[in-house]
Amino acid sequence: MKKLLALALAALMLFALAACGEKTPVLTMATNAEFPPYEYYEGDKVVGIDAEVAALIAEKLGMELEIVDVAFDSIIPGVQAGKYDMGMAGMTVTEDRLTKVSFSSSYATGVQSVIVKEGGAVKSLDDISGKKIGVQTSTTGDIYASDEFGEDAVVKYDNGAVAVQSLILGKVDCVIIDNEPAKSYVAVNEGLEILDTEYAVEDYAICFSKENTELKDKVDAALKELIADGSVQKVVDKYINAD
Ligand code: GLN
Repeated sequence: MKKLLALALAALMLFALAACGEKTPVLTMATNAEFPPYEYYEGDKVVGIDAEVAALIAEKLGMELEIVDVAFDSIIPGVQAGKYDMGMAGMTVTEDRLTKVSFSSSYATGVQSVIVKEGGAVKSLDDISGKKIGVQTSTTGDIYASDEFGEDAVVKYDNGAVAVQSLILGKVDCVIIDNEPAKSYVAVNEGLEILDTEYAVEDYAICFSKENTELKDKVDAALKELIADGSVQKVVDKYINAD
């Protein structure tokens, strides 16, 4: 009887182990889903270039992608703390961020652009000095603008959409933000335009905890394959009309 019980127990444990093994591992990606066309909501689903590229990476790794939408400035702390496996949010690689997290290869280029009101006071980069600048908190637009024009000139908003609303209301004279979201905002709001000059050119990449080199290497390898076989470009073309 005892033997039988032991056998049954062993069988049960094996079964439990097998069940565990079958469960698809989850890849959690932190993002800020207010950044079209990289991440934004379509209904209650987060879509966009980052969401789709991450899904392709997860598929390659046999993992299930879970997207968590958080404030942009909590992505890096959350990744550092191991709350999320990675952060993907049109995030620029900067020297300062590299001291906190590690980055994958770059999969896209971002350009900091300046949105102004048509016929407004800011007509070129030279006009920005002395004006109020709207930015998204903790983004590179915020960092550059604060460095160059001083904290007092910069008004920080939770996301680009709110910053653009402030511009429309005349609370700020321009908004410094990445070019693709800039285009999206200008397309859906009358009376806005993007200055011709590029303010800064930067690389987007996926961030990881410095400790998690194993995952970083796996994701990076998958990403490189997806870049090499044209899959990433396909996703980009779907969201950004090549013209
Ligand atoms: N590329 C910018 C940055 O990394 C903005 C990213 C974002 O707002 N999602 O700071």
